Amino acid sequence: MESSDREDRADAPVTGNAAQTLLDLEFTNRFTADLPADPESSNARREVKGALFSRVAPTPTSAPALVAASAECAELIGLDPAETQTEDFARVFSGNGLVPGMDPFAMTYGGHQFGHWAGQLGDGRAINLGEVLGPDGHGWNLQLKGAGPTPYSRTADGLAVLRSSVREFLCSEAMHHLGVPTTRALSLTVTGEQVMRDMFYDGNSKLEPGAVVCRVARSFVRFGSFELPASRGEVHLIQGLADHVIRTCYPELVPDGTPIDKGVYLEWFKEICQRTATMVAHWTRVGFVHGVMNTDNLSILGETIDYGPYGWLEDYDPNWTPNTTDAGGRRYRFGHQSSIAHWNLTRLASAIVPLLEGEVEGLQEAVDAFPKAYADEWGRQLGDKLGLAAFDEKRDAPLAAELFRVLELAETDMTIFFRALSDVTSDPAPLHAAYYTPDKVGSDAREALEAWTQTYLARVGQDDRPTEERHAQMSAANPLYVLRNYLAQLAIDEAEKGSYAGVVELLDVLRNPYTEQPGREQFAGKRPEWARHRPGCSMLSCSS
Ligand code: AMP
Ligand code: MG
Repeated sequence: MESSDREDRADAPVTGNAAQTLLDLEFTNRFTADLPADPESSNARREVKGALFSRVAPTPTSAPALVAASAECAELIGLDPAETQTEDFARVFSGNGLVPGMDPFAMTYGGHQFGHWAGQLGDGRAINLGEVLGPDGHGWNLQLKGAGPTPYSRTADGLAVLRSSVREFLCSEAMHHLGVPTTRALSLTVTGEQVMRDMFYDGNSKLEPGAVVCRVARSFVRFGSFELPASRGEVHLIQGLADHVIRTCYPELVPDGTPIDKGVYLEWFKEICQRTATMVAHWTRVGFVHGVMNTDNLSILGETIDYGPYGWLEDYDPNWTPNTTDAGGRRYRFGHQSSIAHWNLTRLASAIVPLLEGEVEGLQEAVDAFPKAYADEWGRQLGDKLGLAAFDEKRDAPLAAELFRVLELAETDMTIFFRALSDVTSDPAPLHAAYYTPDKVGSDAREALEAWTQTYLARVGQDDRPTEERHAQMSAANPLYVLRNYLAQLAIDEAEKGSYAGVVELLDVLRNPYTEQPGREQFAGKRPEWARHRPGCSMLSCSS
C-alpha cells in the first residue's frame, strides 16, 4: 500500500465502508520486527531464554466453520464485514491458512498465579498472526486462541473448547459496547475437532467441540511479560519490550521521537496505574468479576484480557467469585479486584526497577498512589450511576456505603437495581423489582431501603438539575443488558448442538447495552431460579 494512502487513512474515522478483503490487509508486524526472536520455530515445549517470542504456525483442523463474527471489530481492522462470511475468512481465523504478510508467533511471559510466582508461562494456546494497520492509523494485533500447541503449552494441548470460546467472544464485544477497556474479538470459529476437557477437574472428562477465537488488541503484552525477563536478569529484554510498548501504544509519551529515559519510564508506569484503576472501576460499575487476575492476565494497556471463569454479579455480593478454582481463598472476588490490581502493579513495578537506574522512589510513590487513583475513578463512575452532578468523597461516601450495606440485606439484582434507580421519585417501589425473593425480604431490609431512598432523593435534590439530565447520565452508566451468566450458558447449550443463532442474537443485543430494545425484555430479566446452581451459570473453573 502506498504511504500516501496510509496518511489519508491515519485520521479517518472508522466509517464502516472500509470495503477491504483479507488480501488488502496491510501487515506492520512491529513486535516481530523490533524484538529478539527465539531461533527455534517448532512447537516443541521448551524454556525460551534471551528472546521475547517464538515463531510458530497454527495447527490445521479438519472442518473449520464460522460461528459468528463482529462487524465492528472487522471495521476496526479495515475489513469489510461481508468478508467475514467467506470461506477464506473461516479458514484463516481458525488457523487453517495464512494471508501474505502474516508472521505467526507466540509470546514468552511469566506470572504470579494466585499470589505465587509460576515461572515461564507464555502463549500456550495463543498464536499471534500479525499486526494490521487499521483505518484509524493504529496497529491492531490479531491473535488466535485455541489454534494448537506452542513452545509454551507445557503439558496442555493448545486448544480451546466451544463453551469457553463463546464466553470470550461475546464478553469481549459486550465489554467494548459497555465502554469498558478491553481486548476485542473478531471471530468465533469451530474447528471440526473434539477436545477432551474435565470441566470441574473432578474426574469427569468428556469430549467437547473445539473452537478458536480471534482476539484483536493494540498489544497483548502483559505484566508477566516483564516479570519473566526480570526473573532472569535479562535487562535488555525488559528495556526492549518497554520501548516497543511505549513507541507503539503510548506515543503521546514520546512526541517527535523523544528519547526514552527514566523520566519517560516513570510517566509510563504512572499511566499504566491510572489505566488499570480506570479499568477496575468500570468492572465495579458494570458488575464484572474477572475471576483470574494473575499477573499474566493483566494487560500493559489497562484493558480487560483473558476471559476465562469470569462472571457477572446477579445479586449484589462483594464476596462473590465465579471461579470454583478460587473458591477457597476467594482471592479474586468482586470486592477485592482493586486490591489485587494494586498488588499486581507492585509486581510490575519490581520488574521494571532496572529501567529506573536505581531511582525507585518515583515508582514506589506511583504504586502507593493507586488506592486513591482507584477511589477517585470509582467515585466518578458511582456519581454517574447515582446521577449526581459530582461525587464528593466527603459528602457522598456515607450515602454510597449505606447503599452497598442495604444491597446486601436482601438478595438484590445489581443491574436491575441501578437501572430502576432513575425511576424513583418518592418511594422505593421501582427498586423492589430487583429483589430475587420479595416474599422473603424482611421488614428491616425494606425499611433500610426506604430510609436510604429518602436520603438519596434529598441528595439528588441538592443538585437542582433537570430530571432529564440526571436520567441521561444514569442511563449511560447503568446498563440494561449485560452478559448474564445464564444467558451465555443458554447460547452455549444451543451452540453445542450446532445452532449458532443464540450466539448471534446475544452479540446483537449486547451491541446496545444502554438502550431499551423492545421485544428483547427477556435479556434484561433476573437470573431464573434453575440457573442458581447450574454449572456454567454460577460455577466456572479455569478449565477451558
Ligand atoms: P490462563 O489461566 O487461562 O490465563 O492460562 C495460564 C497459562 O496456561 C497461560 O500460559 C496459558 O497459555 C496456558 N494455557 C491455558 N490453557 C491451555 C491449553 N489448553 N493449552 C496450552 N496452554 C494453556
Ligand atoms: Mg491467561
